[in-house]
Amino acid sequence: MTDKKINLSKKIGVLGGGQLGRMLQEEALLYGVDLYFLDNDIKAPCSIFKNNFTHGSYKDFNTTIQFGKDKDALTIEIEHINADALEQLSKYDKMVIPKVEIIKMIQNKALQKQFLKENDIPTSEFCVIETKNIPNDMADSWYPFVQKSQIDGYDGKGVTIIENKSDLEKQLMVPSLIEKKVEIEKELAITIAIEQSGKVHFFPICEMVFNTKLNLVDYLIAPASIEEKYTKKVNSIASKLAKSLKSPGLFSIEFFLTKRGEVMVNEVAPRAHNSAHYTIEGCNVSQYQAQLRILLGLPIPEIKMKGYAGMVNLIGEEQYIGAPYVENLQHLHEQGEAHLHLYGKKETKPGRKMGHITVLNTNRSKLVNQLNWIKENIKIKS
Ligand code: ADP
Repeated sequence: MTDKKINLSKKIGVLGGGQLGRMLQEEALLYGVDLYFLDNDIKAPCSIFKNNFTHGSYKDFNTTIQFGKDKDALTIEIEHINADALEQLSKYDKMVIPKVEIIKMIQNKALQKQFLKENDIPTSEFCVIETKNIPNDMADSWYPFVQKSQIDGYDGKGVTIIENKSDLEKQLMVPSLIEKKVEIEKELAITIAIEQSGKVHFFPICEMVFNTKLNLVDYLIAPASIEEKYTKKVNSIASKLAKSLKSPGLFSIEFFLTKRGEVMVNEVAPRAHNSAHYTIEGCNVSQYQAQLRILLGLPIPEIKMKGYAGMVNLIGEEQYIGAPYVENLQHLHEQGEAHLHLYGKKETKPGRKMGHITVLNTNRSKLVNQLNWIKENIKIKS
């Protein structure tokens, strides 16, 4: 046994100070590690870490350079950051995880799809549109399709489904890509953690149940209830993707299991992800602990989970704007083991992610009942 000195006083900067950063900090505090955050929202969830919070835009080159100058390592909790600044910082010998070229590729959905194709990772058929509108003759040969803006999309914003010619008026007037609309049986996600040594760890696969109105995940369950052959397929695609990425970091990979039984990658996020919040209580190692260990150069233990975990996003109800209040919170524990996470956002707005609840159960159908009860009764109002 040889001891390798792990530097826990490393100054780690995080671009973005939202809920993902806040949950990473919760984990870092257990290790006595301080993180530093940059966010242009003065009331961002990480703003409570006052001495470690810089108010400024992670999209701005100079602000990011200033922020990164005195840090030893940098990471992200959102991909829409100024990657040129990160590239510059990596030239000053700052450790940047994940690699800047991977962030740049993922930032642009067209580049990301090309990367998947070049690396022989199954994904839906697509075509890149550099003009602001979709040429009519091209649209004619693609119906029904999904149009996605090349940059700055998130949570379904920047995605529109075009079924036929009359839907063309809904198109986004930005450079985009169009994808064949896939007949989805299930949406799945897997988070992988790639150590600095290159060793890859796989979290359990989770299945997402979507709210079609808001285009946000309603709830998710892990491990996904899918045939063994699909589990193997997802894991083998994730493993191939990990080899292609050639970068340490935490990556969340979203998949479609199609009605025809194909497994294909929808998209990749180079950071912690909503679909792996369940790992905080559901696994022996959370996605945040994994991210922290990667940054510190600590090995990640073998990832295990007991029973099932379900996660419900707490999203601001329609028509409520103001200081949030959680309806029926006092009854939450009556349904079995449940863990509340509120992100400390001072104002609720329709559709805003305010928190989440994770429930654990060894019985899947009981878990589903719990999730449905939470969905129906626990609401964010003002
Ligand atoms: P975002 O990055 O904003 O989450 P996604 O690319 O994940 O955007 O798309 C949002 C949702 O739109 C997906 O979760 C899925 O339900 C639907 N979607 C995306 N691409 C396709 C496709 N090719 N076929 C069918 N549905 C799709």
